[in-house]
Amino acid sequence: MCGIYGIVGDKAVEKTLQGIKKLEYRGYDSAGISFFNYEFKLSTDIPKYLKNISCFKNGLNIIREEGDISKLEKIINSLKPKSKLAIGHTRWATHGKPSIANSHPHHSENGDWVVVHNGIIENYIELKQELKGLKFYSETDSEIVAKMLSYNFDGDVLNTIKNVCSRLNGSYALAILYAKNPNKIYVAKSNSPCVVGYSKDIGIVCSDISSIEKIENLYVLPNQTIAEVSAGNINFFDYNLNKIELSKFSGFTIDSSEELGKYSHFMLKEINEIPTAIEKTVVDYNTIEKIRKSLPKKVIKNTKEILIIGCGTAYHAGLMGKRLLEEVCGIKTDVDIASEFRYKNYVPHKNTLAIFVSQSGETADTIKAVKLCKAYGLTTVAITNVKNSSICFEVDYCLYTNAGKEVAVASTKAYNCQVAMFYLMAAYFKAVSIDQDNLIFEEAKQLVDVAKQIKSNKINNICMDIAREIKDSKSLYMIGRTVDYYLSLEASLKLKEISYIHSEAYPAGELKHGTISLIDNDTFVFAFLTQKHLKDKTINNAVEVASRGGKVILFTNQKIENTNFYKIVNLPKLSEFYMPLLLVTYTQLIAYYTSVYLGNNPDKPRSLAKSVTVE
Ligand code: GLU
Repeated sequence: MCGIYGIVGDKAVEKTLQGIKKLEYRGYDSAGISFFNYEFKLSTDIPKYLKNISCFKNGLNIIREEGDISKLEKIINSLKPKSKLAIGHTRWATHGKPSIANSHPHHSENGDWVVVHNGIIENYIELKQELKGLKFYSETDSEIVAKMLSYNFDGDVLNTIKNVCSRLNGSYALAILYAKNPNKIYVAKSNSPCVVGYSKDIGIVCSDISSIEKIENLYVLPNQTIAEVSAGNINFFDYNLNKIELSKFSGFTIDSSEELGKYSHFMLKEINEIPTAIEKTVVDYNTIEKIRKSLPKKVIKNTKEILIIGCGTAYHAGLMGKRLLEEVCGIKTDVDIASEFRYKNYVPHKNTLAIFVSQSGETADTIKAVKLCKAYGLTTVAITNVKNSSICFEVDYCLYTNAGKEVAVASTKAYNCQVAMFYLMAAYFKAVSIDQDNLIFEEAKQLVDVAKQIKSNKINNICMDIAREIKDSKSLYMIGRTVDYYLSLEASLKLKEISYIHSEAYPAGELKHGTISLIDNDTFVFAFLTQKHLKDKTINNAVEVASRGGKVILFTNQKIENTNFYKIVNLPKLSEFYMPLLLVTYTQLIAYYTSVYLGNNPDKPRSLAKSVTVE
């Protein structure tokens, strides 16, 4: 996952620090920076930070700190190192706990080579055995790269990098410094995103196309490429060390940095932005002319079956998509979790349209699933919130949700927009099958009305009350049937992500087949009921829970006579077809307030990162 940023040029340390701050959403358990400065050791008050700093005689220095970047920033601000070349890293640990020793950059024995790494070197244990006698300072998979570079150095920097990279299995974006070339950052990449750019006095490396500073010449690195980045020039090589030309990337999109404004957290801000985000998503695809520019009618016509793939919240949006595509268009739709799909015996059906959902567009498992589906000969479409993200380069067609930047790690507005996109897609399929193009416009209008309803539905107080009630729970269950079950999966995930309360979503009718044994007098159970035809059955299941002492909080748009429940949250009047879009906002806010009452930071939940670029 991690963020990598590197600068060759003036104010390299300052700019690299700013760069990794922008990438913090990719991981924030520790951070580090390396730079060239021959005087640094002499001119600074290093003893205070002995455990954080490594200085080598060759001019290379490393500063690392556990925790989020503000802690590293404090050290850098107090030492103010100057340099014309730096690389930085913000980590999401895969191998080895967050600690200073495990933070990147890692270095070779004598400090001649310094490396930051995004991804996982899957064969690092095997490779380690070849480096007999070498001391390893970290538990990471990444350190092996620095050690191998120095162990295998043959006098030719590029050749050594190529030889070492050819031995690595797994995924990596690497930014590498070699002490004798203090004007260059070497970059190599395979299966982890990486872009590089230059203009007259600067060269930049970044693991995220939307976070790199605006630059004249920008290149998206293909797999198995090495880049030699200097100020004013970049050379590209394949793994045979043939010099290659890459085309300049022109579709520049920089994520504007977001301000909190009047909100205490980004998550709260983003939940409040849901209505606008839905409207902005819908407006881009609200006519047949607009939508077919991104996804041609012939693709829709040829489709006999649909396969939706995603991870986490995006997978849950996919389940909503299944409901819509099957209910509205009668088109068989399967949904799978990307990391599961990849290792299954999938039996491809020729006219299957594969739809991939990824907020960041960088989700490693989802991207790998795209490749697999292409190998099966399927047509591929991505639904993503980030223009020019890696997935866009892999799929045949791309649909962009226009949710705006999502800073909070737990996704909220992006989920609503992904679901809104599925409403539009279902309308598109229907429109094509009955030859009525205006259905898309009609659907878009309905979605805008739903967005307005969400906006006018004032639910803060009720959500705060529920959050206060549940905050001390050890465990909690959420039940519903079909679409309400899909909703409960997302509601449950959100609560887990940021409150750290164990929560489990269950199909309402399935609870009695085992899990109901866990319900006792202290157990809160959220029951979701938004579909009239499910009323009796879901209520029966909720009563079964209440009869065993469970504290049922029922969220419903139906009239309920039973008063045995702990609480009933009456949902506003809205067609049941659109109810999930509105109901999910209650569950997002409840998760948010629960997290806040527990003293957590909902924007940066422990152990998570926004963009999951490792498998
Ligand atoms: N696998 C490496 C580690 O655990 C890199 C993780 C990352 O991409 O942040 O340090």
